[in-house]
Amino acid sequence: MPELPEVETSRRGIEPWIVDTAITRVIVRNRRLRWPIARGVERRLQGQPIHSVDRRAKYLLINTGNGTAILHLGMTGSVFIVDNDTPAGIHDHFDFELDSGKMLRFRDPRRFGSFHWSDDPLAHPLLVNLGPEPLNDEFDGEYLWRKSRGRRVSVKQFIMNAQIVVGVGNIYASESLFLAGINPKRAAGRIARLRYDALVDSIKDILDRAIKAGGTTLRDFYGGNGEPGYFKQQLEVYDRDGEHCRRCNTVISAFVQGQRSTYYCKSCQT
Ligand code: ZN
Repeated sequence: MPELPEVETSRRGIEPWIVDTAITRVIVRNRRLRWPIARGVERRLQGQPIHSVDRRAKYLLINTGNGTAILHLGMTGSVFIVDNDTPAGIHDHFDFELDSGKMLRFRDPRRFGSFHWSDDPLAHPLLVNLGPEPLNDEFDGEYLWRKSRGRRVSVKQFIMNAQIVVGVGNIYASESLFLAGINPKRAAGRIARLRYDALVDSIKDILDRAIKAGGTTLRDFYGGNGEPGYFKQQLEVYDRDGEHCRRCNTVISAFVQGQRSTYYCKSCQT
């Protein structure tokens, strides 16, 4: 599933191709995504210049002269650039045809992705209740510590809650708790301020490295095969149950927490 780093990689990948172009036509082949694509978006966007492309959580925001296209990649979605005359496959649900002779194409085999239009995207119901961006300065140890007071939920479920902070998916939660030396079962409200400083540093570090790793596979992305770059760095605990911790040689444990698998080292994480 595309996580925040893959979505940011996608944003950086399409940005130079679509900003300062104009949409000559929007072609929708299949409206039945996670939410149906509203009729009339084609008309709203036709002829509009693209001013910028932003990301909020895992949403891509394509800002035009007439409102914003809000795209979500769901489980299996991707966006990529092709020539205007490239035939569409069965999973290519919509295209933005551009005056540059290229197209922005949306492919999604499982159709959990989405495409909304809004003239005030940050107030859209999907975005309005989201917590801060993990890489922004407002997300710091003080913020997490303050939000966590009185919370009995586990720290792992706490940092995966998008109303607390966006973009910390299961891999990044497991890995950042390992880097910070925090046991994922510990109650969020029982963790000291200084440990939250370390946890925030770890979250920022791991997301930064994942985005950089995504950037290294952009060549394939430009090639138009529809596959965004995925996080390939060496993982310390995620999916390594039964293997040995690289720091202390203890066997990595796994258990289910909030319907998700959690991986950790009993010795390094307290
Ligand atoms: Zn260890």
